[in-house]
Amino acid sequence: LCGSEKLGLLIDLGFHPLADTFLKPEQLNEAEPTYPLRVLQCESCGYTMSQYVVSPEKRYQENEYSYDSSNSKVAIKHFEEMASDVIERAGVTGDDLVVDIGSNVGTLLEAFHKKSDCLVLGVEPAPNMAARAKQNGVPTIQDFFNGTVASKILGTGKVKAVTITNAWNHVEGLTDFMEQVKRILAPDGMFVTEVPYLSLLVQKIAFDTIYLEHVSYFSIKPLIPFFKKFGFSIVDLQENDYMGGSIRISAMQGTKESVQVQAYVKREEEEHLYNSATYSVFMDRVRRFKADLVGRLYRIKKDGGHIVGIGAATKGNTLLNYCKIDNTLLDFVTDSSAFKIGKYTPGSHIPIKSDESIGPEITHALILPWNIGKFLQEKLGQLSVDFIVPEMGSRV
Ligand SMILES: [Zn+2]
Repeated sequence: LCGSEKLGLLIDLGFHPLADTFLKPEQLNEAEPTYPLRVLQCESCGYTMSQYVVSPEKRYQENEYSYDSSNSKVAIKHFEEMASDVIERAGVTGDDLVVDIGSNVGTLLEAFHKKSDCLVLGVEPAPNMAARAKQNGVPTIQDFFNGTVASKILGTGKVKAVTITNAWNHVEGLTDFMEQVKRILAPDGMFVTEVPYLSLLVQKIAFDTIYLEHVSYFSIKPLIPFFKKFGFSIVDLQENDYMGGSIRISAMQGTKESVQVQAYVKREEEEHLYNSATYSVFMDRVRRFKADLVGRLYRIKKDGGHIVGIGAATKGNTLLNYCKIDNTLLDFVTDSSAFKIGKYTPGSHIPIKSDESIGPEITHALILPWNIGKFLQEKLGQLSVDFIVPEMGSRV
């Protein structure tokens, strides 16, 4: 973000395949590329990033992308709340246009349209997701957000808000991205992004939210001078539990910075977020977590138990691959998404089946998306299995 080349290595999780790319059966007979999963931090501004960036074409277009936000009740409810919040704070009315980048199947934009009657436009690079959005009646440009796409958007309406949720951290080339956002946004328009927050990642030892699709691990301090370069200031910050711990950052042109911003910087300094020693402790905890979890799973198998994984979530793949949990430990992983059932988890090659596939022989269920562990336990409450939730409680 600041152009410095002084970068320190914070976290090294070894080699991983793309976490969002579930494999078709025939792909099990092919070589599977893996890449180093390492996190660096800029010693000048504190910006935290992946060392190795897999090309966006490989991440979103070469393989069928499988995350579908309309598949999750938790996601739909979250996006409805977010649409209401942005409509109110940005003053979106029926005459305005809201652009969502990385719009997936259009869940957030549907909520915007429903609540304010505004015009909406999505930008989504994954062909299968863009096609689904169009079928759902959400106008969508199937491409990466770039200068050409920005030119197409210009003149289609007054862009009162540009949103990007859980995708800004996937973007390579943030300077160019922000220049294009500034080009399309009305002078009184608002840029709103929601991303996993580095502070919460460290607090919760959420190492499984680190994966190759993530280019940036955002915190507030380095973003202040970054936004200033474009004449923007952060006008609002809100934390929430979504995706295991996210922050909603709103920025507008002008110098009227929220009073929250300096409080966040103070908190980040107090948490030693820009000190490499913090991440040595983090990795010690991660290694201990791995030993505890794998030991527990082996004991269950030794006693004749059968274990399934619940939820073929992206973050589950970092956990499975880092802990070397494969199809000898988990019989299968369940998921409700038609994009995933019948496929295999990347790296660990565990078959993905429907929830209904859990038979009486299954004794234990490892909940992979621990951030919605409670919801999944309630949903599967009728099963007579012991649930294992690998969340921070057991990470301490
Ligand atoms: Zn920097």
